[in-house]
Amino acid sequence: MLVSAKEMLTKAKAGKYAVGQFNINNLEWTKAILQTAEELKSPVILGVSEGAGKYMCGYTTVVGMVNGMLNELGITVPVALHLDHGSYDGAMACINAGFSSVMFDGSHYPIEENIAKTKELIAICDEKGISLEAEVGAIGGEEDGVVGNGEVADPNECKMIADLGVTMLAAGIGNIHGKYPENWAGLSFETLDAIQQLTGEMPLVLHGGTGIPADMIQKAISLGVSKINVNTECQIAFAEATRKYIEAGKDLSGKGFDPRKLLADGTAAIKATVKEKMELFGSVGKA
Ligand SMILES: [Zn+2]
Repeated sequence: MLVSAKEMLTKAKAGKYAVGQFNINNLEWTKAILQTAEELKSPVILGVSEGAGKYMCGYTTVVGMVNGMLNELGITVPVALHLDHGSYDGAMACINAGFSSVMFDGSHYPIEENIAKTKELIAICDEKGISLEAEVGAIGGEEDGVVGNGEVADPNECKMIADLGVTMLAAGIGNIHGKYPENWAGLSFETLDAIQQLTGEMPLVLHGGTGIPADMIQKAISLGVSKINVNTECQIAFAEATRKYIEAGKDLSGKGFDPRKLLADGTAAIKATVKEKMELFGSVGKA
């Protein structure tokens, strides 16, 4: 059964580790992540962007697929199904479709409007036992075609949103979606520390987990980050393994064209990436 992300993140914050959010795109992705979480006895959050939701034929299809897998694969670790960077309407649609967690990304609104919309969603989520992630200070890079510039959040605005009663808070601390540029300045730990000082027990979320050096990840966790989003890294691993399969001519030998064979190496690469991240984040054995 899907669970809210609240309990797993509260435990993570107290235990000084982070739970990975791994974005899903199809059945292979979802199965690879769930099997790895179960093997490593790690809690896990499955992320779905609005674009990926559309690609998978809509949110009810996603909920049906994930619930089916939890049952058929015998998954016992805590799993949250989470909307990533949702609009207000997208969040409502996911709540109604059976997601156990949603992110409302109101970071592009003026702070007053972000607060008003976040408040409405908190009331609905609280009633249904769904966790809610809010965002302050846009995360740079590209997310579903929206390009931002690696902003740093205002800690006081973070406190205003945290005090509304959201479950977890994403704040820009110089992190970027997608691949990091050569001249990236790194994470702003000063900002992160200031945000944690003001928001206390609130689990903080680090977006754009792909390509942040391991020592920065660990420092971020020590400063209150309890959820880390990974998306691009699984995509790159999948694409690389699939390319190698084709380049080696494996699809041309025997029944190598069978999609179950064609996608197998890519799927194994996703599993390896998820395992590496769970070990880095410290969530192994915490389910
Ligand atoms: Zn993000």
